[in-house]
Amino acid sequence: MIDFAKISLKAGDGGNGAVAWRREKYEPTGGPAGGDGGNGGSIIIKATRNLSTLDEFRYKSKYKAQNGQPGGKKKKFGKKGDDLIIKVPVGTILREANSNTIIKDFKLDGEEFLIAKGGKGGRGNVHFKNSIRQAPRFAENGKKGQEIDLLLELKVLADVGLVGLPNVGKSTLISVISSAKPKIANYHFTTIDPNLGVVNIDNERSFIVADIPGLIEGANEGQGLGHDFLRHIERCRVLIHLIDISGIEARDPIEDFRLINEELKLYNENLANKPMIVALNKTDLDTNNNAENFIKTFGDTYDIYQISAATTDGIKKLLDATYDLLLKSEDKKFDLMEDVDENFLEEYYNKEIDYDLQFAKDNEIFVVFGKRVDNLLEKINLEDYDSRMFFEKTLREMEVFDKLKEMGIEQGDSVAVGDIVFEYYE
Ligand code: GDP
Ligand code: MG
Repeated sequence: MIDFAKISLKAGDGGNGAVAWRREKYEPTGGPAGGDGGNGGSIIIKATRNLSTLDEFRYKSKYKAQNGQPGGKKKKFGKKGDDLIIKVPVGTILREANSNTIIKDFKLDGEEFLIAKGGKGGRGNVHFKNSIRQAPRFAENGKKGQEIDLLLELKVLADVGLVGLPNVGKSTLISVISSAKPKIANYHFTTIDPNLGVVNIDNERSFIVADIPGLIEGANEGQGLGHDFLRHIERCRVLIHLIDISGIEARDPIEDFRLINEELKLYNENLANKPMIVALNKTDLDTNNNAENFIKTFGDTYDIYQISAATTDGIKKLLDATYDLLLKSEDKKFDLMEDVDENFLEEYYNKEIDYDLQFAKDNEIFVVFGKRVDNLLEKINLEDYDSRMFFEKTLREMEVFDKLKEMGIEQGDSVAVGDIVFEYYE
């Protein structure tokens, strides 16, 4: 069973740093006092057992965390944007939508994953005062919050798949035995999405059953919607093959049974070989001893139960037998899932961090600043020739001069990088 949804996330942007000045009574320009912008809110995805489908993402697909507020006067910090927590069912896989890369596979209840980091708030002009600059007329812009488009994929692993022709009573049965509420209709297009239900036999015994509608002749050739449905049952551990034994729709139950088994086999041998319980439904309408004939034909090879989803006759026995068969069958195959791509994650997270480079024009001076500049300055010793060469080479690699040219720098103009000021010559 696979449930899909596509969502777009945008973490909050960082607030801009402020340009402000201390204004004291007798000191009109008392130095920089622009505060820092607040960080943008992040988006966190949290797994919970309380959800079993991705339904709600069909109605809402865009999520945005709050932006940080800009910095204020008097070194006031901008308020941080609130984080946004999005809940998904345990078992959900996150893929980056464009590359299809798997970035997270939720296995535990309560597990949290930071998926989009809020942008850092920009530093106010108070941070840019230094030995060469008493009154910086610029501040950092807040960084953008991370954006990502995700494909959510939920491999809801039903233990038991209900197979059978349309109208044999699959939806009715699931509604009787479980907490799911599928649509019940007396026509041949019932539900399109498989329905899941949790069956609680008693306090200790429960399993998940999936109503897999629409198995029709030719489904293995991709006719109609059949192919998708078959894909859903591949992961079930046990099948209940439901037969309408009443024959009221002028069908032959024995033929129906063979037909569906053939479909399963044509699609996938593995599927056909899954442990199977046969449930003859609508026995309340069986006036022609159809059940007896059926058992005569298949009783030696199959475990057959007679039920009526309408009157609930025989259902308890069917559930007990199903549970016993599950105990003897393989475990759920969560481990079939693909691996998380750690490289992708690392790159994604590091994309903007430490790569911030900003430019400003403060009076006639071109100012280069940001985290990347800070990192560079830490490594530089101007007394040392090699170090000065490294400094210049790195600025070139960071395409600083290209950017300054775009801003209209001319020969002989001053450039400030931290507290290093030099004249620009090509
Ligand atoms: P599905 O297509 O296999 O999901 O079949 P549904 O559950 O939608 O049932 C088809 C029709 O058969 C509905 O009108 C049900 O009320 C009816 N039905 C299902 N089970 C029984 C049963 O045990 N006895 C009787 N008399 N009718 C049933
Ligand atoms: Mg149905």
